[in-house]
Amino acid sequence: MTESTAGRTHLDPAGTAERSRVEAHPAQEFGADPLTVRETDHYTNEYVKGFVEKWDDLIDWRKRYESEGSFFIDLLKARGVKSVLDVATGTGFHSVRLVEEGFDTVSVDGSAEMLAKAFENGLEYGGHILRVVHADWRWLNRDVHGEFDAVVCLGNSFTHLFSERDRRKALAEFYAVLKHDGVLILDQRNYDSILDSGFSSKHTYYYCGDEVTAEPEYVDEGLARFRYQFPDSSQYHLNMFPLRKDYTRRLLREVGFQRVETYGDFQETFSADDPDFFIHVAEKR
Ligand code: SAM
Repeated sequence: MTESTAGRTHLDPAGTAERSRVEAHPAQEFGADPLTVRETDHYTNEYVKGFVEKWDDLIDWRKRYESEGSFFIDLLKARGVKSVLDVATGTGFHSVRLVEEGFDTVSVDGSAEMLAKAFENGLEYGGHILRVVHADWRWLNRDVHGEFDAVVCLGNSFTHLFSERDRRKALAEFYAVLKHDGVLILDQRNYDSILDSGFSSKHTYYYCGDEVTAEPEYVDEGLARFRYQFPDSSQYHLNMFPLRKDYTRRLLREVGFQRVETYGDFQETFSADDPDFFIHVAEKR
């Protein structure tokens, strides 16, 4: 079979089914040398439809709900927060949770695929109509008007920014959309441990879903390339910037947040070594 006849069958001589399958699920594009892809703008190409469809297997809403407990909800309630801007909505896990807890929530993402899935999930999990805004963090205030008590940027999302200029710009936009006494909650993977201890030790980083692995395939100080493998043997990649904990804390302070507290894996005290995630709580006042 030649390339041009691939996908054609006697029932579908024109290959329409194959073409529409390929069109519906465009592949991720990292070019000839994926390790050179270190650009902020690339994230929208990485969250292709096929990956977005699988994202919820990766994060498994029920297990994630159990493992997070009410950590974020408690933090927000303790600060009297009423309105929340979820800037990294993804497929909507936190937005749905926030709406269910009664927060006045607006859901932002720069990926149209992700937002569409979040909207669908809002309806599916409790019949909620999410208020979604398609916006890139770097120009957030152009598309989102109003002020919020809190901004949440969760699920290791900030890691998608590849230049310090973009990180500062995004944080400045988060800062600007907050009320004078607002709080930003931003989490990240523990890249210090990955960078310093390496990953050849077969340390596998699991999200919450069973049988789905997320592991670093390549890491240097400027790139963490993760591979996500699913039980149907499909695999996807994300190229991310490996944020060191103290660097993120410094940036948060430098854009103006007065107090930054960092938790490890939802705990107030943690051993420097091994939480999988850090959660920064940055207060404007
Ligand atoms: N918070 C969700 C979760 O925990 O499941 C999604 C996490 S996903 C790793 C990162 C999300 O951040 C993606 O939906 C992506 O589109 C979004 N994102 C990355 N860079 C962005 C940017 N510059 N502006 C807006 N959204 C961005």
